[in-house]
Amino acid sequence: MIKTDVLVIGAGPVGLFVVHQLGIIGLKAEVVDNLDKVGGQCIELYPDKPIYDIPGIPKCTGETLIKSLLEQIKPFKTNFHLNERVQAISKEKENWKITTNKNKIFITPNVIIAGGVGSFEPRKFSIKDIEKFENNSVFYSIKDKNYFKNKKVCIFGGGDSALDWAVELSEISEVTLVHRRNEFRGAEHSADVAKKLEKEGKLKIKTPFQIQSIEGKDKINSIILKKEDGKTEEIKTDFILGFFGLIMKLGPIAEWGLNLDKKKIPVDTENFQTNKKGIYAIGDICTYPGKLKLILSGFHEGALAARACFKLARPNEKYRFEFTTTSKNIQEKLGVKKSD
Ligand SMILES: Cc1cc2nc3c(=O)[nH]c(=O)nc-3n(C[C@H](O)[C@H](O)[C@H](O)COP(=O)(O)OP(=O)(O)OC[C@H]3O[C@@H](n4cnc5c(N)ncnc54)[C@H](O)[C@@H]3O)c2cc1C
Repeated sequence: MIKTDVLVIGAGPVGLFVVHQLGIIGLKAEVVDNLDKVGGQCIELYPDKPIYDIPGIPKCTGETLIKSLLEQIKPFKTNFHLNERVQAISKEKENWKITTNKNKIFITPNVIIAGGVGSFEPRKFSIKDIEKFENNSVFYSIKDKNYFKNKKVCIFGGGDSALDWAVELSEISEVTLVHRRNEFRGAEHSADVAKKLEKEGKLKIKTPFQIQSIEGKDKINSIILKKEDGKTEEIKTDFILGFFGLIMKLGPIAEWGLNLDKKKIPVDTENFQTNKKGIYAIGDICTYPGKLKLILSGFHEGALAARACFKLARPNEKYRFEFTTTSKNIQEKLGVKKSD
């Protein structure tokens, strides 16, 4: 059981910046994210794309912004609980008790939901009973490519992830790339590389095919592919990997009794509190008249929500507004030395 001043749900840009805003006023935060890495949309959807509207930074990529935000919160030594989704919430006296899908429990007076467009989850194969093969023969991401070394692997999808992994794994595994259309929608260059490898006999490509069924008891022995004209083909394989993109789900938060407006959480713009005391929503997931889904708006929302958290985390203390430029108190928390 982890006790903390604030639980932040979501490690996107807004969740990361609110850790800073909490830290400078002396509040400890724990951060949970469903993904295996921090950065939210910036890292998952556009790591290499330039952003031009972060105040004071004329141009930076999604990845550099996240690196800078992490650098900025380094002094607070925040714990990140990645690969974990928040599930249930209940009231425990003055606190909230939050449980994750890995049965981790947080006890806190404040919960800041910075969940963006919801938790990212892979689009899955639509085959009956596929779940029983998941994480032994069926995967939607690759953590260690050596797991597939010298094995037969079928990769499904027509986008960049499917093409890139097919090319990369073809160096160490026997790869078949399967797509339901003849044209790939990933980068032209990657599709050309894959086709070149096919000509050289280093990779097999099967289009336009879809998966029909899996043969095997606990592990996959083979799969049946189906062509548009109904013809089928059996392929022996050890693994199937699906790269069909991500879907965003509000998930269990939708069952928490919070007011919802088109899958967004309405908030009071004075402190970004929801209809429940001590539960706040900031960033893309919140809504109010005039809301702009921009990173800079999320930063502002986080600054106000953090100050609101102080009241519940330190009921016997008075919050005093201070500038980072002149506050010795804040500079101490940031580890600023006299020579800096
Ligand atoms: C292609 C593209 C370009 C963009 N360009 C710009 C731009 O130029 N300027 C700009 O200001 N904005 C831009 N945006 C928008 C910007 O990325 C978002 O406004 C910003 O990412 C919102 O940040 P966030 O932290 O609120 O949410 P997100 O970045 O969506 O992060 C939310 C995190 O919460 C996690 N999460 C959600 N639910 C749960 C749960 N139940 N349990 C655990 N974790 C959970 C998710 O996994 C995710 O990591 C762009 C967006 C896209 C898609």
